[in-house]
Amino acid sequence: MLRTVTSLSLSGSAKGSLTRSPAALTTTRKISRSHPAFQGKAQISTASLSEDELKSLQVDRNRLMNDIHHTCQWGTGKRWGSQTTETGMSRLALSDTDKQARDWFVQTTKSLGCSVTVDAMGNTFAIRPGRHEAPPTCAGSHLDTQPTGGRYDGILGIHAGIEMLKVLQDHNLETEYPVGVVNWTNEEGARFPISMVASGVWAEEISLERAHNLGEVGGGTATMKSELERIGYLGSVPASHRSMPIAAHFELHIEQGPILEAEKQKIGVVQGVQAYKWFTIDVAGRDAHTGTTPFSARADAMLTAARLIAHSHRVAAKHSALASTGVLTLSPGSVNTIPGNVRFSLDIRSPVDATVEAVEAQLRKDFAAIASGGNADDPSFPQTSKHKLAVDWTTDTTSAAVNFHPDCIAAVRAAAGSVLGDEGLVRDMVSGAGHDSVYASRRCPTSMIFVPCRNGVSHNPEEHTSPEDCAIGAEVLMHSVLRYDQLRAQRERR
Ligand SMILES: [Zn+2]
Repeated sequence: MLRTVTSLSLSGSAKGSLTRSPAALTTTRKISRSHPAFQGKAQISTASLSEDELKSLQVDRNRLMNDIHHTCQWGTGKRWGSQTTETGMSRLALSDTDKQARDWFVQTTKSLGCSVTVDAMGNTFAIRPGRHEAPPTCAGSHLDTQPTGGRYDGILGIHAGIEMLKVLQDHNLETEYPVGVVNWTNEEGARFPISMVASGVWAEEISLERAHNLGEVGGGTATMKSELERIGYLGSVPASHRSMPIAAHFELHIEQGPILEAEKQKIGVVQGVQAYKWFTIDVAGRDAHTGTTPFSARADAMLTAARLIAHSHRVAAKHSALASTGVLTLSPGSVNTIPGNVRFSLDIRSPVDATVEAVEAQLRKDFAAIASGGNADDPSFPQTSKHKLAVDWTTDTTSAAVNFHPDCIAAVRAAAGSVLGDEGLVRDMVSGAGHDSVYASRRCPTSMIFVPCRNGVSHNPEEHTSPEDCAIGAEVLMHSVLRYDQLRAQRERR
């Protein structure tokens, strides 16, 4: 079927309707799509959009927020305010409420002309056809939440992708290549204890068997596979980038930190994800009576551990890195016994792999010196005992820094610049937390977009991003995807 495209009017929430000279608008080409959503409508291709026309494409803020709050009826969590929407979320992966949100996602994206594919991990790909058959440019994130999560972590990214599909439909826009929205399963790792497990299987970095056999936390008998089956999301398509290739992955996410809000900025152009290493540190001294053992005769594992933890903070700060201890156990655990053994976790992070290594190397040296009676941590520390303690390191996890793709970073930066019109509102950032985009980036060009969240709080019912900031983020996401689509078309033509 041949159609002649003769008009483009951007209506709805657009900044102003566009006028084009008829000559510039007339193109003749084949439209092969059979979905009712596309029938009877002249399609405008994204490659033919001028910079000004692209700029004028806006998301519908009310529609976006209404959709977010609509799906938050499934898995509503703890109330924190008096307004209807002032509750958190508790939508664990593959629960009944996750199924309800997934069903809405499938129905909605199908009604917008997408074909929907569910893979063997329940990852759900809604793909809107483009002018050419090729892997899609995707917006991806997750619909599951922490048990005491909020309404924006993950959820905003999915809804922004759906809003993009709606805007394309509103304006009869046809992309050069397919575009899509991906809902990745169990990103949070809250119910099945590996974070980002399903994007990890798609990237072929985690085996399907290991993921399917993951048991739920809390003592239940369900596994990921049994729950995928139970809610009807165990797809027949292999969970692999080979079966469901993606051309590029963009993820809009709340920052989960305080920087954008503090700097009064609106968009973080995410360059990558910082490197980290996790260790278990064992300090071995000697149990002894607290009343009868003078300082000079002690090998106090707790006192030494406290010094090591404080020193890790000092060394990390010197390298502009982070060091944290989140788990600490001591034995025997008695008021009047000096602990002979302490075990603590140590988490070292930096955007640069070499910095993590440098902090680790310095700490290994200093921990040994401090435990054997030195005061590398603090020259004024009273050396009351000559007893040496043993410090033993176990490396638990190593995660290298992730550098997102320059093409995707450039698309996000250009999109943010045109949506906000003020470079001062945009900053480059490195993500402190892991995201599905980490695994996506192993298999396709990827980047992320951050928006501010109130007080930097997430994984908390009170997690909040203003409607204005949600809409700005969604608009930057849409523009990033469309700019990337244009880039693919330009490269094809060369
Ligand atoms: Zn998330």
